Amino acid sequence: MTLQVDTETRVNLRGHLVPTGLFIDGDWRVTDSSFTVTNPADATVIAEMADGTAEHALAALDAAVAASSGWRLWAPRRRADLFHRAHALLVERADAFADVMVLESGKPRAEAQGEFALSAGFFLWYAEQVAHLHGTYQEGSPGGYRIIETHQPVGPSLLVTPWNFPLLMSARKAGAALAAGCTVIMKSARETPLTAALFVQTLHDAGFPAGVVNLIHTSSSAKISSAVMADSRLRKVSFTGSTGVGSTLLTQASEHVINSSMELGGDGPFIVLDDADVDLAVDQAIICKFRNAGQACVAANRIILHSSIADEFTSKFVARTRDLTVGDGFDSKVEVGPVISQRQLDRVVGLVKSFQEIGATVLTGGSAIEGAGFFFEPTVLAFTTRRHAFCNEELFAPVAVLYTVDSVPEALAFANDTHYGLAAYLFTSDLSRAVTIAERLDFGMVGVNRGIMADPAAPFGGIKASGLGREGGHDGIYEFMERKYVALTID
Ligand code: NAD
Repeated sequence: MTLQVDTETRVNLRGHLVPTGLFIDGDWRVTDSSFTVTNPADATVIAEMADGTAEHALAALDAAVAASSGWRLWAPRRRADLFHRAHALLVERADAFADVMVLESGKPRAEAQGEFALSAGFFLWYAEQVAHLHGTYQEGSPGGYRIIETHQPVGPSLLVTPWNFPLLMSARKAGAALAAGCTVIMKSARETPLTAALFVQTLHDAGFPAGVVNLIHTSSSAKISSAVMADSRLRKVSFTGSTGVGSTLLTQASEHVINSSMELGGDGPFIVLDDADVDLAVDQAIICKFRNAGQACVAANRIILHSSIADEFTSKFVARTRDLTVGDGFDSKVEVGPVISQRQLDRVVGLVKSFQEIGATVLTGGSAIEGAGFFFEPTVLAFTTRRHAFCNEELFAPVAVLYTVDSVPEALAFANDTHYGLAAYLFTSDLSRAVTIAERLDFGMVGVNRGIMADPAAPFGGIKASGLGREGGHDGIYEFMERKYVALTID
């Protein structure tokens, strides 16, 4: 197949020129067909993206394989210097990233700026780690030889990202993979390809060699992933998204035993105990629930209140929810943007209706907002019973659901009663109680008296149906490396 090289196609978004092609082997490429990107705040089309096919994805894999042997040999300091150049260029373009994220994902600009800062922080974390990877050396058990343990890049990697945090997911995965010495094929989310394009353009401008970073956009993800995953030259898949798609990729990965990291769905309990600082819990619940219009895997999915503080928490939380300003993310007063698409809006409308049918009381909100964009009122629902058909469904919406319990064992049992295990939150003023309960929560991450978890220095990830592996922290980079043991005979 001859791929058409494109040097021209860019879309102008609020003065920022963003490429709309596929990025393969160091060039932007056009395709015969395209798909549109929509601004969820007003339902207007903001760009036409090149629509990649399985052939494009395999061309990207060819490029990643060809570039791999050179890239893996770059000395740590040289690679770290390149990372620092890329980080500086990312920071120069902070405004462009924030604007593009608001346009294609709908999030308020302050949140987009926060996502930018966290993404740049992850990239910097990996830049600093590149130069500090180490192995071990020890004597063999019977003597006479030495055990040298080292790490090497796992190889060409497929990085599949969702739309809810388009820059964070790209930077967190690509940062770790590239720092480890892997070449990558990034597959953007259909709804948010422009942020990924700007990110890849920035890495290219910083000097990442041709073929090391490749980017595919597509309207048919399944075809792309099936083609690439069936090719044994691919050695790693790192995916963030729903548990259903994650399972499909794991099945595909089994054919060639491809190394897999999965960041999947969540069903986060947010527990407020009788001795909690209720005002702090309300503040954090507002962020944890309504950030990104509730479309976060670590969002508070079940707010579990001890009966002794339930009334106070509920009245304060409902009042704060009613005060939230909803609208276009470019308006600086706006705190909650639209949901990502009409399909998502329809799903939220259906979900709230189903909750009401099984006995939930609507304390505020509950309806879609009339108009061109995909807006839903910040909503609070309350249940008197804690077990119901949808209690473990990932809401992924600006909808908070409150439950009341009478004891710590009851709270803990309800919190753990889910097949997910990503993030949990606990509010209490008793440190020893906090430690005991945190140890008993079956989740990969527990926030104590805080509702925000992500940090470049922390291992982000879940257990059970929420995934495999960790992103960030001291081990994040090793997700893209294999351990190698060399036995060396000594005379
Ligand atoms: P999704 O699984 O539908 O899509 C995620 C990505 O996978 C997108 O790029 C999509 O285009 C792609 N995709 C879809 N089908 C595919 C296939 N068959 N093969 C390969 N790629 C495919 O999820 P979503 O709706 O975009 O995101 C929401 C989900 O992501 C939620 O469940 C949420 O909890 C999860 N999520 C998890 C984390 C985490 O770190 N654990 C972070 C953000 C989102």
